[in-house]
Amino acid sequence: MAHSYRMTLDGWAQALSGDDCPFCAPRADDNDFWLKVETLPSSTLYLSRDQRFHGRCLLIHDRGHPIGIESLSPRDAASAFEDLHRCSKALRHALRSELVNVASLGNQIAHLHWHLIPRFVGDSRWGAPPWTTSPDEIPQRRLADADLASMAALIRSELAKT
Ligand SMILES: [Zn+2]
Repeated sequence: MAHSYRMTLDGWAQALSGDDCPFCAPRADDNDFWLKVETLPSSTLYLSRDQRFHGRCLLIHDRGHPIGIESLSPRDAASAFEDLHRCSKALRHALRSELVNVASLGNQIAHLHWHLIPRFVGDSRWGAPPWTTSPDEIPQRRLADADLASMAALIRSELAKT
């Protein structure tokens, strides 16, 4: 997917409004962008079909259209953070990654979500943030449906242990 790094004021107003928000529930379990892994108390974990980073996931908040963690009540934020903690731990164990990069940006889609990017020694941006330059500079990598489903099942089984 080509990225546009420009956001018009009208585009931002629409992003804030939640109209046509691609992340507001309900969402497809399986589409061109992701495969659902698990529904958690506050959010849903999806395995990205864009596997330029092995095991890359998206954790999307399920309730309402909050822009960021600061939009939530302390109680809801704590629940969201618990989901994030569980998913990061499950990813690290399931894929035996060195660490998991976590990012909440919302510059394009103003609905609370987290990018979870397991990092491995020797990956394409090892030792640096994943997005120091355009992601388009990293060769696209998409897995066969069966392989993606196997990875999702592995992550799901680790989540069940948390
Ligand atoms: Zn939304």
